[in-house]
Amino acid sequence: MSLDIVRIELFVVELPLIQPFTISVGSVHSRRLVLVKMTDRQGVIGWGEATPLEEPIYKPDYFGSTLAVLEQILAPAVLRHGIYETPEELDDSLAFVRGHYFAKAALSIAAYDIAAQKKNQNLAEYLGATKTEIALSHTIAITKSPQEMLDEAAKAAEEGYKDIKLKIAPQADLLFTHALRQKYPDLPLMVDANAAYRYNDDTLRLFREIDDLKFFCIEQPLDWNDFYDHSRLQKQLKTPIALDESVDCVHDFEQALALQSCRLLNIKISRVGGLTAAKRLYDLSRQNNIGLWIGGMIEGPIGLASVIAFSALSGFNYPADFIDSHYLIKGFSDYFDEAPYALAGGKLTPRFSKPGLGLAINYDRLCRDAANPATLTA
Ligand SMILES: [Mg+2]
Repeated sequence: MSLDIVRIELFVVELPLIQPFTISVGSVHSRRLVLVKMTDRQGVIGWGEATPLEEPIYKPDYFGSTLAVLEQILAPAVLRHGIYETPEELDDSLAFVRGHYFAKAALSIAAYDIAAQKKNQNLAEYLGATKTEIALSHTIAITKSPQEMLDEAAKAAEEGYKDIKLKIAPQADLLFTHALRQKYPDLPLMVDANAAYRYNDDTLRLFREIDDLKFFCIEQPLDWNDFYDHSRLQKQLKTPIALDESVDCVHDFEQALALQSCRLLNIKISRVGGLTAAKRLYDLSRQNNIGLWIGGMIEGPIGLASVIAFSALSGFNYPADFIDSHYLIKGFSDYFDEAPYALAGGKLTPRFSKPGLGLAINYDRLCRDAANPATLTA
């Protein structure tokens, strides 16, 4: 089932958010995405999506660098390559470019879309993912006051979410974590600092206090490219640390394992450069008894389809945190011809009704106002 890519079109869409989403490093106001439409010699079309932020505040990649490297380097390399036997081979062929994982992920998703269609399977089937129900956590971004945060938590609890992920930052940490734990003494809670702290005595005191609140996880407390300080911190906490920003690739994760920098891993298809790398990190985590969940970047419909398919793998043992797209992107359901999933009780039931990415995405609607900065052919 080989892939012979003859055409790659790049589109840019901007999906407005209902409200800004604020984390320690800044706020997201709308989602400008780079879409990849990849055509195979047999006419099979695959779609991918890159989900960088507008500025290099989460990772070094950002919207401008992602679009540029896709147009100038990565897409031409795929078109030059000739036939790929598998989408894994396509992903691996992009390793000559350092970094630029968001851009690589878009090509990867499109290649897997084509490969799955050629086997007349949806992506979950293609990946061997069999779960029919995905447990979700609900993320609460940084709010102006603990009360505002508690109001959002109450809404999430009402909708049936049992796991809550609270974003924290200096000036928005202990007051918020104490308030949340006090209100919900028994709920599974976690915090995500998005790399906001540096290893020092104040930070140690802070996380020891959070340790006592019995959260189930502290995600990415320290620097975005660090393993050593996370290892020092993890040794002094009972609460498991999860890495997100620090792990781009298998080699990163091997360093984290060697140093015992974390006990949990948040896998994002976009952060690690696509489905092949995501699957390798998933396998390596399981071999090393590292707890696992799949995270999101406020994906658009295409990115979310890949995330939902991947999250159906049986080894994810912590609730997924990708559902922000559903709540934050204005009119999100309009981008589908039929409901892509059902949501109830903090669980998502995917409706895979199509070969390839699986969900009934309405590409015409999605691309109605899209710009088309480049079309490249073999
Ligand atoms: Mg995170």
